Amino acid sequence: MRGWIDQDLCTGEDLCTDHCPELFVLLEDGISYVHLGDLIGNDPGGASSTISIPAQHEPNAIAAALDCPGECIFIEPDGREPCPPRTSTNPL
Ligand code: SF4
Repeated sequence: MRGWIDQDLCTGEDLCTDHCPELFVLLEDGISYVHLGDLIGNDPGGASSTISIPAQHEPNAIAAALDCPGECIFIEPDGREPCPPRTSTNPL
């Protein structure tokens, strides 16, 4: 999974860092960013604004996205787990 934050929507309430400080950081500008160690996704809208979420942090990242008041945390599959094709025997 990969994660990013739309900083234009972030309200800076810092709930994400409560859920998972290993992935989210509130910077001096009062807005949160995704990070992985020293690597900060600080290019809003750019390719480098996303980070790869380590598997052990995926549940907390999803919980943060669900609780985010700005609805601005986005968690996306990174291609490791492609969806099976939709067929007549697999309608999902
Ligand atoms: S929980 Fe959402 S709105 Fe609040 S600081 Fe984190 S990203 Fe921003």
